[in-house]
Amino acid sequence: MPRYSLEQLQAAFAAKLPATPCAACGQLDKGYTLPVDEDGATSMLISTFFGPDSDAKIIGGKSLAHVPLICNNCGHTRIFNIQMLLRDV
Ligand SMILES: [Zn+2]
Repeated sequence: MPRYSLEQLQAAFAAKLPATPCAACGQLDKGYTLPVDEDGATSMLISTFFGPDSDAKIIGGKSLAHVPLICNNCGHTRIFNIQMLLRDV
């Protein structure tokens, strides 16, 4: 279970990245999508890799928790380390 909530992530982004334009397209007005559920779980916690035979394989084990922030205009996606994002907020 994540030790953070959607509200904590939203507050950290608001505090550390206020009014930041997209690095790819420069938009600011359409905002961003934060694909995290109410419990703070993000799909970035599960990594899927594709082998040479194109079969999807899910690799388990320890990993760093990351959260994506997706531009609502062009889809450019930035990945943030959650521990660093929530530090000193
Ligand atoms: Zn963009």
